[in-house]
Amino acid sequence: VLNMEMRTTFSCEENDYNTPGSLTLSQKDCQSLVWLPFNYSISLDETARAARDFGGIYHHKPAAIVCPASVDDIVRAVRTAAMSDHLTLAARGNGHSINGQAQALNGIVIDMMSACMKGIHVFHGMGDDEETQAYVDVYAGELWVDVLKETLREGLTPRSWTDYLFLSVGGTLSNGGVSGQAFRFGPQISNVLQLEVVTGNGEVITCSPGQHEELFYGVLGGLGQFGIITKARIVLERAPHMARWVRLFYSDFEQFSSDQEFLISIPKDQAFDYLEGLVVVNSKDPINGWPSLALSSDASFDPLLIPPNSGPVLYCLEVALYYNNTTDVSALDKKIERMLAPLRFMRGLNYSIDVSYFDFLNRVYREEILARATGTWDAPHPWLNLFVPKSQIARFDNMIFKGILKHGVGGPMLLYPLNRNKWDCRMSTAVPNEEIFYLVGLLRFLPPNPGGPNSMESMLAQNEEILGLCETAGIEIKQYLPHYKTNGEWKRHFGWKWDQFVERKRMFDPRAILAPGQNIFSRSS
Ligand code: FAD
Repeated sequence: VLNMEMRTTFSCEENDYNTPGSLTLSQKDCQSLVWLPFNYSISLDETARAARDFGGIYHHKPAAIVCPASVDDIVRAVRTAAMSDHLTLAARGNGHSINGQAQALNGIVIDMMSACMKGIHVFHGMGDDEETQAYVDVYAGELWVDVLKETLREGLTPRSWTDYLFLSVGGTLSNGGVSGQAFRFGPQISNVLQLEVVTGNGEVITCSPGQHEELFYGVLGGLGQFGIITKARIVLERAPHMARWVRLFYSDFEQFSSDQEFLISIPKDQAFDYLEGLVVVNSKDPINGWPSLALSSDASFDPLLIPPNSGPVLYCLEVALYYNNTTDVSALDKKIERMLAPLRFMRGLNYSIDVSYFDFLNRVYREEILARATGTWDAPHPWLNLFVPKSQIARFDNMIFKGILKHGVGGPMLLYPLNRNKWDCRMSTAVPNEEIFYLVGLLRFLPPNPGGPNSMESMLAQNEEILGLCETAGIEIKQYLPHYKTNGEWKRHFGWKWDQFVERKRMFDPRAILAPGQNIFSRSS
């Protein structure tokens, strides 16, 4: 790590990596990066770290990682990139992208995990409207798990989450941020009151629905294309203490999906607080079958309760109801019994446990520990996430889940509906044009000794096959956390939003410096 204040010199050869697709820092890059008057450190030996992400598929080394000491340092880095004729710049949150989206080949990576991008300040509100509601001001490099811990200290909580909490605020707001609360509150990007952004022009702008709204809505779900989020103001509500976490198994897709759609349409006081769904292989395979969804080690699953004519996969409706320490548990039991009564799950194949609100939201951490122990957490993850319109989800189920995925993906297969009216169409994220659409998440984990159908290449090929089948069958999916290679594909992805997206790029990052790993625009010289 070279501290630029010390004006240290170094040899360009130090950065000769000799790996395919890697960077050998040019003399020109050395000069432009080293001799500018930055007040922060540039790390050359950590560039390999910035060339890795959770996906483990792409490895694009940057010229340097910048660890900013202030927002001004980010401004300086952006301006430096803008002044050069070729440098690009990517903000890197926690690097949990799948396809190199936070990488910048030969460019600069801003490490948003730096200490200056940390800070959480909770404000208690008195009411429910925008003027008086409680909120938290949070720096973009904070992880959601820390936002949760800090707000819970004040008895408050954000309303909308991701399933996994070790993601940065800036990283999820650049995409959407969806989980089982999104049917009610919309994605995380629908719960933001204000942002502070460093644009690709090197300006620091505070934006909100009433102030620089073009930038505000552009940045939300904007894939890092218009600016680097440095701070966000997020809506809070009173936090519950506990969650009753319920899983119900179905063999019939129609019954499963219509129950899900029913549950996301009923009034709040009769509805669950969280709703998701999963697809599992109809077998006792511990990774892909129903044992993978056991809520506790002592829960027994009686396969004799599954109708003999069931297909190759089963469906699991997952719901949760929040409550407080003071709640009368027998009244809670009765309420849940009433809520479950009209649902058409396989009787006897329903499970529930009570966990703290924190443990419920942080539930994937337990899976992370297990996956780390087997080595599958650090192996590549060729994930595919899609939004599928409601009108086509049954065909998708038939062709994809019951067809090419009938043996599973080596990890969870998510399937749950979302209400489109909770997504402000001025935000950048592209979603299907129907009132209800489904999130499909194929969260592939490679086994410890991958090979054959379990290799990364086979899994990537299967993703392509799924996309191809949807295209041929006219199933109008949108990729979530999208990854495309050509301009035509991006244009199609954004559809009617494309012209607006391009115009926002022209306004806020005209030289296309930012987030080159998304591969949407080419850097102009
Ligand atoms: P990074 O990978 O570091 O960055 C992602 C993109 O955002 C890059 O283009 C980067 O340049 C840009 N970026 C990062 N920080 C900023 C910033 N401050 N300003 C502007 N641009 C920025 N998503 C969901 O919606 N719901 C889930 O339940 C969910 N679960 C997940 C579980 C796991 C285990 C993993 C690996 C991912 C999951 N995701 C989920 C996806 C996740 O939300 C995105 O990959 C997210 O971008 C990761 O955040 P990050 O901090 O790691 O971002």
